[in-house]
Amino acid sequence: MFTRHFEFWPERLPKTLPIPESTIYDNLEMTTKRYPNKTAIVYYGTEITYKQLHSEVNKLAGYLQKVLGVAKGDRVLLYMQNSPQYIIAFYAILRADAVVVPINPMNVKDEVAFYLSDCDSKVAIAGQELIREIEPCIGFTPLEQIVVAAYSDYAQTDLDYTVPPVVAAPKESFDSLAIIDWDDALTASLEANPSQAGCDDLCCLPYTSGTTGKPKGCMHTHKTLQSTLLGGIVWSQSTPADIGLSTLPLFHVTGLQHNMNGPISLGSTMVMMTRWDRDVALKLIDRYRCTRWTNISTMVVDLLAHPNLKDYSIDSLKMISGGGAPLPEAVGQKLLELTGLRYVEGYGLTETISQTHQNPVERPKMQCLGVPQFDVDSRVIDPVSLKEQGPNVQGEIIVNGPQVLKGYWNRPEETKNSFVTIEGKEFFRTGDIGRYDEEGYFFLVDRVKRMINASGFKVWPAEVENTLYKHPSVQNACVIGVPDPRRGETVKAFIVLNSQGKGTSEEEIIAWSKEHMAAYKVPRIVQFSDELPMSGSGKILWRKLQEMEAEKVK
Ligand code: AMP
Repeated sequence: MFTRHFEFWPERLPKTLPIPESTIYDNLEMTTKRYPNKTAIVYYGTEITYKQLHSEVNKLAGYLQKVLGVAKGDRVLLYMQNSPQYIIAFYAILRADAVVVPINPMNVKDEVAFYLSDCDSKVAIAGQELIREIEPCIGFTPLEQIVVAAYSDYAQTDLDYTVPPVVAAPKESFDSLAIIDWDDALTASLEANPSQAGCDDLCCLPYTSGTTGKPKGCMHTHKTLQSTLLGGIVWSQSTPADIGLSTLPLFHVTGLQHNMNGPISLGSTMVMMTRWDRDVALKLIDRYRCTRWTNISTMVVDLLAHPNLKDYSIDSLKMISGGGAPLPEAVGQKLLELTGLRYVEGYGLTETISQTHQNPVERPKMQCLGVPQFDVDSRVIDPVSLKEQGPNVQGEIIVNGPQVLKGYWNRPEETKNSFVTIEGKEFFRTGDIGRYDEEGYFFLVDRVKRMINASGFKVWPAEVENTLYKHPSVQNACVIGVPDPRRGETVKAFIVLNSQGKGTSEEEIIAWSKEHMAAYKVPRIVQFSDELPMSGSGKILWRKLQEMEAEKVK
């Protein structure tokens, strides 16, 4: 039940929410019954109704089950850009009682191979532009078959704004028995078996990295997803009449829950973009009279800096919210002056399938994570002694609530180390350092965990270092986050070259990194050094380097 942190709680809201005992797929089923002819998705000029969405989901599910042999609990990799096919694939995997493994489409071959092996996925659904990264994984990972989709099948291109090249690209054909064309899968029109999954079954396995440098799958059930969906809808008073601008990547939990699953469970409309582009975003808000926009704060910064902002009508927006990174106070102020709206910030992690904390719409505070949501007990502890801290004393934020993951996939030890028991309750250790004020609002202060937050993309230094060590010239590497006016933080690598590496340039390291890791992880700055600061036990003192860099910009 409730904790003493709820000193401020909006009166209009109940204090606890009963979580539906149904699956995420059931949400689509119910919405389709209610609003069959309503527009579910607007995608670059094409409108797709709930009836059409539901029908395509069922056909793809039938194919997954009857031709590709997908069975209950199987993990299916979803490797795609935001598109109608992403949504259809996500729900088809659930309709087939399987588990969605959503991964970032920026991942490159080595990274994709890791995910396929780690979750033992035999089937993947991918965008055609990603086939060159995933097809080579067949043979040395469990992967056997890939369903391939071309976004241009669902988009119009003769619009008065630019469609991203990846969306406009014509359909390709692939000369491989392992690659199945999306249209062939759908035109087979196979009927899916009756659903078997229940609310406590595994639904989604989003990955997050960590201190060991290896990404870990977060085990989420239909119920953990339902809890942040319902929480988000009730908290923000969304309605089926809402029209949401969907700009967040759907492989990440905030986009997944608030730009896709939330609207589907309500029966509202998603105006979807594959790539962030402020010109297009302004046109879409104006044209479709969007009412909601859940984003990453850097998008708001970008949109408000548009030189022709005044030429567009954005007064239909009733709610702008987000999380993942703090919104600069000055931008929050500008947003308020321009739109009369306060940015409603929330906080959460992949491990909590989006928000655990959220600012009350009627009384948000700036640069603040918000108050713990329905049924969430969140506290602050000393990360070493584990002693609980009082108001305004900083420590590690811990959370207990219905959205907390069931554990990391195949990693019992790391699961155990991520929880702490207090008063008989299990709390997830977030690795974030924060404090709460007298009213129970939480604020982020620092991180215990080694993570870089670059425009909301989370970069885990140990993972980047592991890859850099594979470069033939690298003897030692240390990756840190340095302050960046646009991205909040950016990735910097300190490198000690080995004897064969003399003469290697910064450009060479960056070019090599681009081939071996997703673009957002690639160090933007490389500094060569003769040595790195080490502890007595031989550990590289990354925090020291980070503090030295932070000092430089003061
Ligand atoms: P992810 O697992 O990718 O969702 O990243 C979770 C991390 O994002 C958290 O542990 C925080 O470090 C960071 N984060 C989430 N929300 C916020 C926020 N509102 N402000 C600052 N950092 C945030």
